[in-house]
Amino acid sequence: MKFSWRVLVLWTLPALVIGFFFWQGAFANTPADMGKNAASTRMTYGRFLEYLDAGRVTMVDLYEGGRTAIVEAVDPDLENRIQRVRVDLPVNAPELISKLKAENVSFDAHPARNDGAIWGLLGNLIFPILLISGLFLLFRRSSNLPGGPGQAMNFGKSRARFQMEAKTGVMFDDVAGIEEAKEELGEVVTFLKQPEKFTAVGARIPKGVLLVGPPGTGKTLLAKAIAGEAGVPFFSISGSEFVEMFVGVGASRVRDLFKKAKDNAPCIIFIDEIDAVGRQRGAGIGGGNDEREQTLNQLLTEMDGFEGNTGIIIIAATNRPDVLDAALLRPGRFDRQVMVDAPDIKGRLEILQVHARNKKLDQSVSLEAIARRTPGFTGADLANLLNEAAILTARRRKEGITLTEIDDAVDRVVAGMEGTPLVDSKSKRLIAYHEVGHALIGTLVKDHDPVQKVTLIPRGQAQGLTWFTPSEDQGLISRSQLKARITGALGGRSAEEVIFGRDEVTTGAGNDLQQVTGMARQMVTRFGMSDLGPLSLESQQGEVFLGRDWTTRSEYSESIAARIDSQVRAIVEECYKNALQMMRDHRSLMDRLVDLLIEKETIDGEEFRRIVAEYAEVPEKPQYVPSL
Ligand code: ADP
Ligand code: MG
Ligand code: ZN
Repeated sequence: MKFSWRVLVLWTLPALVIGFFFWQGAFANTPADMGKNAASTRMTYGRFLEYLDAGRVTMVDLYEGGRTAIVEAVDPDLENRIQRVRVDLPVNAPELISKLKAENVSFDAHPARNDGAIWGLLGNLIFPILLISGLFLLFRRSSNLPGGPGQAMNFGKSRARFQMEAKTGVMFDDVAGIEEAKEELGEVVTFLKQPEKFTAVGARIPKGVLLVGPPGTGKTLLAKAIAGEAGVPFFSISGSEFVEMFVGVGASRVRDLFKKAKDNAPCIIFIDEIDAVGRQRGAGIGGGNDEREQTLNQLLTEMDGFEGNTGIIIIAATNRPDVLDAALLRPGRFDRQVMVDAPDIKGRLEILQVHARNKKLDQSVSLEAIARRTPGFTGADLANLLNEAAILTARRRKEGITLTEIDDAVDRVVAGMEGTPLVDSKSKRLIAYHEVGHALIGTLVKDHDPVQKVTLIPRGQAQGLTWFTPSEDQGLISRSQLKARITGALGGRSAEEVIFGRDEVTTGAGNDLQQVTGMARQMVTRFGMSDLGPLSLESQQGEVFLGRDWTTRSEYSESIAARIDSQVRAIVEECYKNALQMMRDHRSLMDRLVDLLIEKETIDGEEFRRIVAEYAEVPEKPQYVPSL
């Protein structure tokens, strides 16, 4: 190919400009030796203290007179890999040093160095020199070599971003609760181990398997387990890493990846988040993304380019198979799809058993009870749950994890960190009435999930919380269940209004109202549960700006839009009227419950029901589950 100046300028200029900023950036970092430690991730101080208590911190380097620290910690989420993170320390934390001593953590302080200025100057000088010689080199290489500019600008190659693990160390035993997926993929292991079995009878070994499922269900883990069981290397890359700012990088990464894989066959190539590259071509605002399309084309070409029997099997993962380009899914590419769903109760128990293997559990803990309490949790949630419980156990200096820690960890995983309770005040009373309002409707309305507990201890964003026990079967929800949920969600606001009056209601109900409106709207537009009749007027709302979604937005006339709005209003108004009535009917019961709640901070579901039963009839609920 002939060397072209236009291409050279096109490529080098942006690269050099960007390079210059990187160069400057390297010296802009005040403590000069902090740059080399480049701990890009941060950890909050509170989290750091927890890690410290749990004995996970191995080393602490203090910088900037003790205002910043680079912390080396073992991260249980990353298979106990050592992780370096940056922690901003509060100015007044003298007790930290004694704590570090007590925990026997090695630490060191680094004074700020003053040679930044010299380096800055040198940097400013060196860059132009590099620039000039760089240009020169580029020019020479380009004109001498037959490869032309392609050779000189092989960005993708030098920054290969895929990872290779010779041995993943993960086995099928480490993956639990997704038996069907495991069974289907067991065959893939045989393809890799004994391909002769299939080729002897003329069978073509599939090239690609697509794992489809929500995040955290164990797709990555499953792919690693296949490599582990077959004893082959594991190459992995994430779809988003293909798509970068330099045009052509994605495609060349695909080439590199397949080349490396061919050299190491038999092996597994794992492409995570394939929807990032594999979205339908020619869609999205602005006619799609050229870079992504080139990458996708390259991927398709590579997949066609090797015979099914070379011993490479490509496993891709996504949670949005609907947006994938049809070309990826046709036979000979990702023609096998395996669903990886959130586990049911039995699956959750098995996953808990896997993750409890290396944890010290108190004898009183029943994994079954935990599995029962965690509908909707994925494998990753459950792993996280046990880990949080272990951290709490270490913090409380207990021998083994007890039910209290598990219970607290569930709350924490679902609703966030616990805050300090409010002091007694008018707003605390208002929050108490708000929560009792939710809980009262949850108890009195037959189709509502039963109350598990009501609490005034803040968590995450919420000042108070009412927990309900969700039913195991989350598949089909009836109209009356939806209306019960809407009424329950309005319980907080209606209590505020009945007790404190219209002018005193607060912003605390904002979140509730958002949910209410969302549910009511879906009843009308998606589930055909209003007077508009059984019509589906809107599909599930996704991001409109990427991929195929753009073209499938539903359309209806203005007059239908107005009728939708009035139907939504009608549903919400009816539910709100009922909620208000219930509050007025049980005024003295509410006063009593609120007094108790303020005194105890938390009332559990059983006690709550017992008190309500003294005043009104409490309906039986099928999914009633004893709390832990
Ligand atoms: P995904 O790739 O589907 O988002 P991962 O495979 O990355 O999920 O799961 C994250 C972590 O959660 C795993 O490393 C594992 O510890 C835990 N996990 C998830 N699913 C399972 C499962 N089915 N069995 C055991 N552990 C699981
Ligand atoms: Mg993953
Ligand atoms: Zn509320």
